Amino acid sequence: MKKIGIMGGTFNPIHIGHLIAAQEVLEKMNFDKILFMPVGDPPHKTGSDVISAEHRFEMVKLAIENNEKFEVSDIEVKRRGKTYTYDTLLELGNLNTNTSFYFIVGYDTLRDMDSWKRIDDVFKLSSFVVVNRGNDYTDMKKEIDKKVKKYSANIYLVDIPDIEISSTEIRKKVSENKSIRYMVPDKVLEYILNKGLYRGE
Ligand code: ATP
Ligand code: MG
Repeated sequence: MKKIGIMGGTFNPIHIGHLIAAQEVLEKMNFDKILFMPVGDPPHKTGSDVISAEHRFEMVKLAIENNEKFEVSDIEVKRRGKTYTYDTLLELGNLNTNTSFYFIVGYDTLRDMDSWKRIDDVFKLSSFVVVNRGNDYTDMKKEIDKKVKKYSANIYLVDIPDIEISSTEIRKKVSENKSIRYMVPDKVLEYILNKGLYRGE
């Protein structure tokens, strides 16, 4: 059996917090690879400043191109309508019979998961790996215990160095003409500047 970690996200844009988390999980969980999965149309982020899936996908590609254990999937950005992890897990399961999937989420995402479409089935279809995001360790343990009890979920905790960076902060900095150097890989930085992304009106 192959073991693949799925790093889902809006990646608006991808930043070093995502990359460091993915690398830590790859090594600590002994995964064969990490599949980055940019969402097409995120159901919980409507009306916000999510730029086109093409740009977000392209930036993920640029960010991971020199890591042979990292890959990007376009199955969510290609799907029509709102993106639901439930649909993605079904699709992945049908395509790969010899693989077990582990969905990677930050603690903030874990807390939001009760509202996900068919969350009971989502926890049946995939194991989860939770990483910290500058939060308290005991809070995280408690939240994991709650989910394990409620959904019989299979959840691993991987402790990573706290990287207090978010895409929100990056978008804000770009719109204020501040530098985001070192917060994103150089190629992503170039892409954002060349395409004039996140500059606001
Ligand atoms: P936004 O501010 O737009 O919500 P974000 O930085 O939270 O962006 P997302 O694309 O929403 O990035 O996150 C994708 C996944 O990566 C989520 O599960 C999130 O918890 C996790 N994640 C994002 N940033 C970090 C970080 N700095 N450390 C650990 N996990 C992170
Ligand atoms: Mg987020």
